[in-house]
Amino acid sequence: MRRNRFISRARHTADAETLAKLARRLSESGCRLEDQLWERRLLELLKDRLARGFDTDIETALDDLSRTNTRAYDDLADLAESCAESAVIEIDGRPHDALLLALPLLAWSRYKVPAATLAPAVVDNIAVQIGGHLAARGARIGVADYLFSIDQLPESFGDVYEFAQRLFECAAHGSRMKVDAKSLREPVSMLADTRYVLAAIVVPQGQALYHWQETGVDPDSKAAAVDAFTAQLANVLQPVMTGCRYRVLAPNAFHAALRIADRELREFSLEAALAYLKLTYDLAPSALQATVAAFEDKRIEEMRIGIGRIGDEDQIIEGVVWPLLGDDEERAQEDIEAALRRLGVTRITTHAHRFPLEFCDDCGAPLFPNPAGHSVHAEAPEDADEQPVAPLH
Ligand SMILES: [Zn+2]
Repeated sequence: MRRNRFISRARHTADAETLAKLARRLSESGCRLEDQLWERRLLELLKDRLARGFDTDIETALDDLSRTNTRAYDDLADLAESCAESAVIEIDGRPHDALLLALPLLAWSRYKVPAATLAPAVVDNIAVQIGGHLAARGARIGVADYLFSIDQLPESFGDVYEFAQRLFECAAHGSRMKVDAKSLREPVSMLADTRYVLAAIVVPQGQALYHWQETGVDPDSKAAAVDAFTAQLANVLQPVMTGCRYRVLAPNAFHAALRIADRELREFSLEAALAYLKLTYDLAPSALQATVAAFEDKRIEEMRIGIGRIGDEDQIIEGVVWPLLGDDEERAQEDIEAALRRLGVTRITTHAHRFPLEFCDDCGAPLFPNPAGHSVHAEAPEDADEQPVAPLH
């Protein structure tokens, strides 16, 4: 049992309150010196909570701040993310900085986007590419031997912390990290989705993590290094991604990489839906119309886009969910319209009224707005020669 039941609830409440209190003071700080003092105390407490498996204290503090003080919430969330994804570890008696990286990719397939164990040769090759393009000279590198879907990744701060500690240990010994595939959830099958390889870079404390941070290296060489790395990673993953179209995104620290990939996935999903309609039903973007609406459940949750033939006000052939991710509805509408136009769809209906956040009772697929103003299930066109092999939602 991870949690110590002899530590009282009162003690946990006090720790959560202390975290919230320190974060409020940090958010009011007017200078770097004061920042550093509050940060030091927060980091100490956060690391202690994570190391003891009491990350619920952190969640409690964040819950409180999310309702009362958004600046303090952001400050505490930043520090908690950093404590979960990075650490100082000892190797041969010397302190080292260790960082958990996520290498994200966007993929779509008419069949299934894989989430699977990576062969040892693939894992070793990924480590070589990280060493060759990203990490500072002499850095130790660890790679987990699995291509994760978003719902298989470690989720809470505590889960991320534990995963990172194991991977740092493997990096210190120059070994691959084995992931128990049986312990992972079966991913929800989507037409387009993100996938992640998790890796770690470990360097002597205070030294450069990335190649472009080293003394004498032009910091602007980052862009070329990242481009070279993503091109190489795309090659290395080719045997794994059979039957998929995919795009490797820039690697980043774990939490930042997930946020960026979530954002990038929105337009990529639209692109995938249109490519799918062309490939499967020979429907070009110019023959299609899109319907955009906000779907809500108490508060706005997400935008949904129904795509069907021009002239058909009822049937939706394919749909895309566009999560707001902190954007407001108006901004999301503008982004969606711009993305649709870039992709060649110019007939766009935007409904001003909000739809209830509905899903299909049978298969759980989201319902999409049609031009007539209803939410409907996406259906393959009746006259199509080729019907989809598997349900796409
Ligand atoms: Zn259904």
